Amino acid sequence: MKPSSRKLPVVLAIGGHDPGGGAGIQADIEAVGANGCHCSTAITCLTLQDSCNVQAVMPLPAEQVIAQAETVLKDCQVSVIKIGLLGDAVIAHAIADLLQEHENIPVVLDPVLAAGGGTPLATESLLSAIRQQLLPLCTLITPNSPEARRLAPHEETLEQCAHALLKSGTEHVLITGTHEQSDRVTNRLYDKTGLLNQADWQRLPGEYHGSGCTLAAAIAANMASGKDLIEAVNSAQQYTWKSLRDGFRSGRCQSLPDRLQRHSNQPET
Ligand code: PLP
Repeated sequence: MKPSSRKLPVVLAIGGHDPGGGAGIQADIEAVGANGCHCSTAITCLTLQDSCNVQAVMPLPAEQVIAQAETVLKDCQVSVIKIGLLGDAVIAHAIADLLQEHENIPVVLDPVLAAGGGTPLATESLLSAIRQQLLPLCTLITPNSPEARRLAPHEETLEQCAHALLKSGTEHVLITGTHEQSDRVTNRLYDKTGLLNQADWQRLPGEYHGSGCTLAAAIAANMASGKDLIEAVNSAQQYTWKSLRDGFRSGRCQSLPDRLQRHSNQPET
């Protein structure tokens, strides 16, 4: 048989492993695949978690994280790098050095600061590394509203948070509104000129595990497929909303009875 000449755009996902398969690297692999790209991976941390919450995070040595990413970057033509859970500040610094060596590759960062069940996933030193080292290297960051407020703690409104984060160097900020007390979920995309795009979604009942990873990974895949940023963000929101609408209970967690896991459907064709 002749080797196939078919090519898929490659996204390199750098993030943590969730053994339950709900969030992190597995959510990235499924979302990137469902959006027409191949997902290569570099693991930053192992975690212990169930369908309720994260019990432990075990960061890998930074040199092992970088060795994984460099192996992929040497072998494949990576179109977009997507970053999720970092684990610690040493890993964040090492990833910033790596990104500087590959400055032509767009970067989507989902700043994972706490688990949906409440466990903190970022120390103050990791927060400063994200602000000072990583934000200047990002094409897009995708904080939810609590994450935006934690990254820009001196601002009053979410719009001011967005501008503070843009001032730190990221080119675009998408702030998601799932955690706000509003009837509908409103997600807003900003660049230095102001609000670029706003999308409104029906609020789904319950809580969802893996939604942030899925959104950022789907955006990365859409960018890798050549969509412009606004189109990439809009189509990824649609994909993520459907993954949550079709969410299911994967585990036996009783303390959060309304917590569901996203289901990464193949998009309709
Ligand atoms: N574990 C890992 C490895 C993650 O990357 C994330 C979020 O991105 C979480 C846990 C938390 O997921 P959730 O907020 O959906 O509970």
